[in-house]
Amino acid sequence: MKVSKFGGTSVASASQIKKVAAIVQEDPSRKIVVVSAPGKRFSDDIKVTDLLISLADAALSGNGAEKELQAVVDRYASIAEELGLGDDIIHVIEEDLRGRVAHDKENRDLFVDQMKASGEDNNAKLIAAYFSSIGLEAEYVNPKDAGLVVSDEPGRARALPEAYENLKSLRDRQGIVVFPGFFGFTQEGVMMTFARGGSDITGSILAAATKAELYENFTDVDSVFAANPNVVDSPVEIKRMTYREMRELSYAGFSVLHDEALMPAFRHSVPVCIKNTNNPSAEGTMIVAEREYSKSPVIGIATDGGFSTIYVSKYLMNREIGFGRRLLQILEDEGISYEHTPSGIDDLSIIVRSHQLTPEKEERIMDRCRKELEVDDVHIEHDFAMVVLVGEGMNNTKGLTARATAAITRADANIEMINQGSSEVSLVFGIQNSDTDKVLKELYQEFFSTAAVLGV
Ligand code: ASP
Repeated sequence: MKVSKFGGTSVASASQIKKVAAIVQEDPSRKIVVVSAPGKRFSDDIKVTDLLISLADAALSGNGAEKELQAVVDRYASIAEELGLGDDIIHVIEEDLRGRVAHDKENRDLFVDQMKASGEDNNAKLIAAYFSSIGLEAEYVNPKDAGLVVSDEPGRARALPEAYENLKSLRDRQGIVVFPGFFGFTQEGVMMTFARGGSDITGSILAAATKAELYENFTDVDSVFAANPNVVDSPVEIKRMTYREMRELSYAGFSVLHDEALMPAFRHSVPVCIKNTNNPSAEGTMIVAEREYSKSPVIGIATDGGFSTIYVSKYLMNREIGFGRRLLQILEDEGISYEHTPSGIDDLSIIVRSHQLTPEKEERIMDRCRKELEVDDVHIEHDFAMVVLVGEGMNNTKGLTARATAAITRADANIEMINQGSSEVSLVFGIQNSDTDKVLKELYQEFFSTAAVLGV
């Protein structure tokens, strides 16, 4: 039995949903189908989830949200009409949306979450109706009825252990289960979404809970590539990689799969396959527990911009026990998570994602560092990018860092920071944002120019 998840572009229009139906029909083991909300049909299009966020904002502003609501209904109506579904399903969707808009707005985050969740929920209803209309035995299943219980963290919920027990029985249902991605319910029955892109997480949870033989993640590329194809020309395809490698790459900027989607499948030993809805016969990328490392110690290079550095220095910091804890406490008080903390004898840098900072927060942090930690210097710099080399084989290969730094030098970029975790599965370089593309091209050239495919 397979759990097959279809992402936003795979369910963005009637013609895409027809491809999904053909894929499901072709293989009877595809019993559980997880769907996203309709995504982009073309590059300037707006995802339904983003339309829903605009709708939520308009409703919260109190100035009327009819135009925004209509934009969402229209997207579904055009899909339903082309699928020959008639008006009933659109009435169901419109009524559902009006009910949600009328919801209690006291807690803004909860209100936005239940609006966002409607994108996948209504799409699952629509797709189940379409499957039935073409003679497939299919049923929409609601995450609440199925027992997908999650933590009470709007916009960043996590599945609770009991969810796995509850969801087990989905495997025994008759026909095809069409399940909305992206959200679950707290113990108290409050709807809560995962992080953005979180339908991947739902698919992985369902695959783990039902002990599926495979978790297929259908998207719009033939495989995962070793580097961003928008920067590097025709990068080499990764055929096989480990969960850990994919998690590192996803976290560091690969958008093909959510980084939090790896753990459930990994813990329950369910292999993951990334496949293309637009070219389903392509083999795709397999994500498994182990691979052969010798031919490709590095499997991919990710880049991500938008980092800031909080730089602190104080003479004799090395002898001051508790300095690091007190500094990190200041960040914790501001609700900021950090990525790296390279340090010297008398100085420490904390690298954070810039979107977490505001001018007010920066002022408060620097002020507390001066007053409470009595530092000699504190300042914050922006516009950094992280370039991450990932590969399980790096652990046993000498000279990789030398090759990487030589390539960065050829790109005429300055290295601001180097960080290698003790697992040695990733090697991180901090550089200026503006150097990102040229550094990626040089590194790609260094590590992959002669590779045909990776991980085999
Ligand atoms: N629709 C949601 C988003 O855009 C979740 C997903 O597609 O995975 O973030």
